[in-house]
Amino acid sequence: MIALTKMRAVVRVLCLLLVPTVAHAERRMTIVGDVMDTRARWTADGTRIITEATIQTPDGDVVVSQLGGSVGGLGMRTFPGPELLQRGMQVSLDARADHDLSQREHISVDGVRVTGALPGFVRTGPTEAGKYLFWESGCVFVTVDIAGTNQVNGDNEFDTVDAAIAEWNTNVASCSFMQLQQTARLASEVGRDNRNLIKFRDTSWCRPATKDDPARCYSPSAAGITTAVFVDDATSDRDGEIVDADIELNGADFAITNDGQTSGTSSCRSEISNTLTHELGHLLGLEHPCLAGGDPPREDGDGNPVPACSETTDPEILEATMYNFQDCGETKKASLSPDDIDAICQIYPTEQDPGVCAPVGKEDGCCSSSSSPVPSTLLLALGLLFGLGARRRR
Ligand SMILES: [Zn+2]
Repeated sequence: MIALTKMRAVVRVLCLLLVPTVAHAERRMTIVGDVMDTRARWTADGTRIITEATIQTPDGDVVVSQLGGSVGGLGMRTFPGPELLQRGMQVSLDARADHDLSQREHISVDGVRVTGALPGFVRTGPTEAGKYLFWESGCVFVTVDIAGTNQVNGDNEFDTVDAAIAEWNTNVASCSFMQLQQTARLASEVGRDNRNLIKFRDTSWCRPATKDDPARCYSPSAAGITTAVFVDDATSDRDGEIVDADIELNGADFAITNDGQTSGTSSCRSEISNTLTHELGHLLGLEHPCLAGGDPPREDGDGNPVPACSETTDPEILEATMYNFQDCGETKKASLSPDDIDAICQIYPTEQDPGVCAPVGKEDGCCSSSSSPVPSTLLLALGLLFGLGARRRR
């Protein structure tokens, strides 16, 4: 009851602000732009949550603040009240410059009109129960198959793998706990074994046959592919958790190329830096930012429908490392775009660091041996092949 009374009091104050007869001098303004970032915090006295948002306008960035938001599992809203600003909104704001008791200036938001949505990153998933995929640990261990590729001089491919891993680690370090860690290289094959493998396939673009399953071959137009194994069980609190992810790079239909150098004979070059940086995004839990032919409808990280690749001209999508297609010899995906970085920082934000960096264990006896029974609480789904398709230049 006390909380309710306070909330009503706040509502009344807000309604008063809507009355045009403002007693003291205020600088009123209309701010039109895109919400690039939001940060909620409690005020120093702990009585209210304030959300500060960075609005990108044609005249530069403006930081505004509004009452309400969510911090540490507690949310605060006024009813009625303006829409809470969220990253990805295109907005027209009714705002005013005002001062706190310490005479610091704030640009306060009184009214929000949402005029559209920016395209956002897309996550992998969801599970049957609607969860998007994630890694539980604060880091992900990856292992490079020791054979590397014969299409590149010496061991140069391994340096490029290191650089692709560093590209993710360095760029997300300021806002995300997530880091990729490499274990020692060894001879290995893809599959559910809690080892996240990076495998070059020089001759056959197939997952090899097993005793009771034939070789599984992939689309020859895919330069790379990532396979994730994750918990797909609505009754499990691990629903959506990735337990294994393997990356394969296609040297059968493409010339695997390192900084322009290859002995591969395919007419279309697949630069390791370009293809692998993209696939590592899949391994971390990211989907493509637009729908290619045959893709099911999806929503992006802001809950907006994902557009068709054929219908978008948005550079945020076309220039993202996670964009679905690459040209022969392309290198631009080796450098992450702001959207790729933002995705990892929203899925794995620093403030939610689990404080643990460990390989996915063989806990519950679930994931280590195909002969051991899978507990009903932890059903695993093998699936979701993510490729990086080729868009061959004519
Ligand atoms: Zn892809």
